Amino acid sequence: MNILQECQGASRIAITGHVRPDGDCVGSCLALWQYLQKKLPQALVQVYLEQPAEIYARVKGYDRIDSRCGDTDPYDVFFVLDSVPERMMESARKLYGQARKTVNIDHHISNQGAGDVFWIVPEASSTAELIYQGIDKEALDQDLAMALYIGIIHDTGVFQYSNTSPKTMEIGADLIRYGFDFPKLILETFYQRTYVQSQVLGRVLLESIRFMEGSCIVSCLDRKIMDFYEVEHADLDGIVNHLRNIEGIHCAIFMYQTDVLEYKVSLRSDEWVDVSRVAAFFGGGGHKRAAGCTMRGTFHDCVNNLSLHIKQQMESGSAARTGSDSESNSRRE
Ligand code: AMP
Ligand code: MN
Repeated sequence: MNILQECQGASRIAITGHVRPDGDCVGSCLALWQYLQKKLPQALVQVYLEQPAEIYARVKGYDRIDSRCGDTDPYDVFFVLDSVPERMMESARKLYGQARKTVNIDHHISNQGAGDVFWIVPEASSTAELIYQGIDKEALDQDLAMALYIGIIHDTGVFQYSNTSPKTMEIGADLIRYGFDFPKLILETFYQRTYVQSQVLGRVLLESIRFMEGSCIVSCLDRKIMDFYEVEHADLDGIVNHLRNIEGIHCAIFMYQTDVLEYKVSLRSDEWVDVSRVAAFFGGGGHKRAAGCTMRGTFHDCVNNLSLHIKQQMESGSAARTGSDSESNSRRE
C-alpha cells in the first residue's frame, strides 16, 4: 500500500489503534502521524488512543495523542492500525463511522480485513513493519525511525520471536542508521521494570499453577492484589512471557481482573497450540503464538473453558504444529 496515495485530497485525517495500546500500536500510530504531518503539512492529522504507558513518552507526538476524542467534525480518512475496528476505543467509534474513507492496516491473523481499504499481512512481524513499507523512505528521520523501531522490537521481543523475518532484520538495520540510542531504548522500554512491577511479576510466578501434566500454566491477578500494589494493565505487559519461558510449558495463560467476574486473558504458546483460534472462540484474537481475549465468569470457569480448547488442539496434533508462524508479543521478555 502507498499510504500517501490513500490520503489524496484529504484535509482531515485521523489515526487510531486498539484499546490498551502496546508498543507496536503506539509506535505505528505515531510514526504514521509524523509521516503525514511531514508530507501533508496543510492537513489536520489527529491520533486517538487510550493514554499509552509513560515509557512511550519519548516518541515524537506522544503529547499530541487525544485520549478523550471530543471532536465531532467528520474526517476524510480514518486509519485503524494494529487492530480490527471493533477493538478501537469506544469514544472514537462515532467518528470512525462518519469518516469518508476508512483504512485498516494490521498484521493480526484474526483480522479478516475491515474498512473501505485494508492491508492485512499476518506474515509481517508488526504493524510498524507495514508502515515502514507503506511510506516514502526519503521521509525517514531520527524520530520516525525510532517510532517504527519501538513498534518492531515490542512485537518481536527484540527480534527474538518466530515472527522475525530477514526483512524485519533489514528494516531494523535501516532504522538504526538514523542514530537514535537503540540500546537505551530497548532497555528502558522493553526490559526495565519498576520495583513494584517486578514485585507483581514475582507474585504472578509464585502463584502460578501448572496443569495438563505440566504442559500448561496459568496465573491470575485479582483486583484486590492490583489495588494493593497500585498497578494498572500497563504494569502487567510482558508478564505472560515469563510464564511461557518456563521449561516444558506449551501454553501459558495470564489473566487479570477487569471487572466483577471479568478477566483480560493473555495467551502464549509454542508450535503445539494456535492460541489465536482459542482466543477467537472467546471473542478475541491475535496471532498463532500470542493472542488475547476478555472472558466472563469465575477464574475457574475461565480456565476450564480455555483448557478445553487447548487440550483439543494438543490431542488432535493440530495444524498449528506445521503451520507458519506469525507471532506478536508485548514488551519486556
Ligand atoms: P495480549 O492480550 O496483550 O497479550 O495480546 C497478545 C496479542 O493478541 C497482541 O498482538 C494483541 O494485539 C492481540 N490481542 C489481544 N486481545 C485481542 C482481542 N481481543 N482481539 C484481537 N486481538 C487481540
Ligand atoms: Mn502489533
